[in-house]
Amino acid sequence: MKRLLPYIALLKPIRGRFVIAILCGLLYGISTGLGLPYMLKKVFPVVFSMEDVSNGILLGAVALIPLSFLIRGITGFMNIYLINSCGVHILEQLRTKLFSRLQELPTSFYQKHRIGDLQSRAINDTELLQNHIVNISNDLLKQPVTLLSAIAYLVHLTLKNTELTYILLCLAVIPVCVFPIRQIGRKILNRAKKLQQQTGDLSAIITENLSAQREIRAFNLKEIEKDKFRKLVGVLFRFRMKLVKYNQLIAPTVEIIAAIGIAVSIFYAAKQNTSLENLSPLILALYLSYEPIKKLGSIHAKVKQGNAALDRIEYILKHPLEVEDPTEALPFDNVVGKVEFRNVTFSYDASPALKEINATITPGQIVALVGPSGAGKTTFANLILRFFDPSEGNLLIDDIDLRNITQKDLRHNIAYVPQNPILFNISARENILLGQTDNSVLSVEDAAQQAYAHKFIQELPDGYDTLLGEKGSRLSGGQIQRIAIARALLRNAPILILDEATSALDAESEHTIQQALQNLVKDKTVFIIAHRFSTISLANRILVFEEGRIIADGAHDQIIKDCDLYRRLHERQGD
Ligand code: ADP
Ligand code: MG
Repeated sequence: MKRLLPYIALLKPIRGRFVIAILCGLLYGISTGLGLPYMLKKVFPVVFSMEDVSNGILLGAVALIPLSFLIRGITGFMNIYLINSCGVHILEQLRTKLFSRLQELPTSFYQKHRIGDLQSRAINDTELLQNHIVNISNDLLKQPVTLLSAIAYLVHLTLKNTELTYILLCLAVIPVCVFPIRQIGRKILNRAKKLQQQTGDLSAIITENLSAQREIRAFNLKEIEKDKFRKLVGVLFRFRMKLVKYNQLIAPTVEIIAAIGIAVSIFYAAKQNTSLENLSPLILALYLSYEPIKKLGSIHAKVKQGNAALDRIEYILKHPLEVEDPTEALPFDNVVGKVEFRNVTFSYDASPALKEINATITPGQIVALVGPSGAGKTTFANLILRFFDPSEGNLLIDDIDLRNITQKDLRHNIAYVPQNPILFNISARENILLGQTDNSVLSVEDAAQQAYAHKFIQELPDGYDTLLGEKGSRLSGGQIQRIAIARALLRNAPILILDEATSALDAESEHTIQQALQNLVKDKTVFIIAHRFSTISLANRILVFEEGRIIADGAHDQIIKDCDLYRRLHERQGD
């Protein structure tokens, strides 16, 4: 329960609504626990009276029945309605919090987690948690009040008729209910955890399947996929039924215990010849004091289920950021683009992917990063973007350590064309505009012209306003890369990073891209990761990577003589 408190604080902005909801809940509790038996106590003597009563008195008495239900109904409705509105508010906040956190987490986080599972945490677990938070905070006040009102009324009655004292003994059965409730709660926590986890798996399987439809068809994986899904759904079904079983066990268990208590009191009442009109309010009050126990029992179960969801949500909310902004960031503007690696070592896991890298790149230099795959080129580029911090050593731009500036300022000054650029499901124009900053000087059309993307964009059904579809599904790989280059051109940042930006092209479009790149690299500090020597020829400096080290550094003419690896790579391509 304590764990939920910080989340209940999310209700602060709407505490007025929450307080009214609780007050209505309390009124509902009092009008149930105390009001209903009291009403019977008032109505029965009149109705079953031996004497003649006037119609007026009779009507007045029976009118108490709808009246008490009216109060109970209105307060009950208001309570549920307002509580739900608080719940929706919590849900919004929770999801926003989670989503914001996902924007901050390191890129490595996304390599270690399945998108579908994260999605399920953001959608299913938050929904579960909000349900529980509101129901719990609601019932936690309402039910004890109902219980206390009912007990208060019982005590009041027995004080008046001391021969009824035995009935209080029946209340002693209440603590007995606690044992099965606790036992069941424990079972629920385990099952709920597994269920949420399986729901995450299910969501992951669906997203993975949907994004790999081509492979699944090409490799005849349909049946295997169907089988996998069927099995998981089966497991999910069993866990769900276990939860239903344990959740639904609580009410009958408490009711059976309550029935024993009530039977005992009726037995004593019969022995003492208590009249029906005296007995019925008592029985009702007794019944009403078991009712909250039942509800509290299921709250206990809900807390357990809520905790399972909370674990999964907090896993994201409390996941370390790794790369964090300094508390007092240095200003970072008028960047000229000097990049310096000072003795940088970086490891993803155990063995380092970059070892003791030293390199100073002067502003305006065009640097090609060359080497076999896995040599550390992408890692080198990612460190400049500060997707990670060096494990050892320092990385400086314009002589400022990257740890001393904000990530926002840093990335404002970098244009990045990744190997597989992602286009968003918005128009071509908007996709290019994503690159815009206050540095931008080109118009969208000019940027597209220079990226050799203008022609094919114009030929799309709605030109620049054509929706590109998810991940740019209506375009070819080369076209997507050209849009990404237009984006980078528009950005006009002092530092430019191209990670295999020409890899998806055929020879012809490579030629066009080549010209696009020449426009792009003017007056910038540029890092080009490429396998094609036609692209590398744009560079005036080459860094050759092998197993995380720079083994050669210089101009093409120099290192083709000095570096065997470079020469081999060059010869293999035959140009
Ligand atoms: P390149 O771009 O030169 O092909 P990378 O920089 O991508 O090479 O990778 C360098 C080394 O780091 C490789 O051994 C690769 O297996 C490892 N590596 C790359 N990314 C990760 C990651 N996210 N987690 C763990 N190891 C990684
Ligand atoms: Mg790479």
